[in-house]
Amino acid sequence: MSRVALITGGAVGIGLACADALAASGYQVAITYHHSSPPSRHLAVRCDVTDSDEVGAAFEKIEAELGAPEILISNAGITRDGLMARMKEADFADVLDANLTGAWRVSQRALRGMSRARWGRIVFISSVVALGGNPGQANYAASKAGLCGLAKSIAKEYAKRSITVNVVAPGPIETSMLAKLSEAQQSAIVDAVPLGRSGTPEEVAAAVEFLCSEAAGYITGAILPIDGGMSMG
Ligand code: NDP
Repeated sequence: MSRVALITGGAVGIGLACADALAASGYQVAITYHHSSPPSRHLAVRCDVTDSDEVGAAFEKIEAELGAPEILISNAGITRDGLMARMKEADFADVLDANLTGAWRVSQRALRGMSRARWGRIVFISSVVALGGNPGQANYAASKAGLCGLAKSIAKEYAKRSITVNVVAPGPIETSMLAKLSEAQQSAIVDAVPLGRSGTPEEVAAAVEFLCSEAAGYITGAILPIDGGMSMG
């Protein structure tokens, strides 16, 4: 039986591209969705990653239908941009809760099944912003940088059980998250990309799929930029 892969926020964007790539490679795929309508081609479970009970219920449903996920792509994320001086505490807390604590919730739950299997792959979808910061995104940058510390700590705790934990740090990727920015903001971002273009969700998914493979078994605690060279300095 092929391994079960769970992608949070897998109904759209980067998450859906990861789900499609893993399904095409023969994995059994489950996705969670929050507000979007999920595509019918994957087992879809509604789950708000800020709610521990919903996370628990989602895992129970997936475990009953497919078995325990041995691969977790923690992808769900939000932005609430604003300059520091005007950022409301709720905008900071909400972004941390969804992006960082949400990743902690789902990975803690997923590690139960991975520990039993003595095999696992966790990939956190961080951001280039975690590495260099960004004006107007103190909350988002803090949450995405937090994923790097979270990943490395879990990687060290679970290495002896052949569970790897890695981070990908995408640059500007063509999804609704990027489309929310003005054209001027988007072109300023793309100007900072040495390859001179934004990336596609499929380009992120290809790297994520590799990190989930048997072949990537000696890679753990790594942070992989997928950003057209934006973070190379
Ligand atoms: P989208 O906005 O299209 O996707 C965000 C995803 O997160 C959606 O699937 C959404 O679910 C889900 N989500 C948001 N809040 C919650 C929540 N509370 N509980 C469960 N799911 C939630 O953008 P992307 O595909 O671009 O984003 C995917 C990830 O990639 C994010 O973590 C983002 O930060 C990261 N990223 C994106 C970059 C980009 O340029 N696009 C660059 C770097 C990182 P639903 O739609 O069902 O509500």
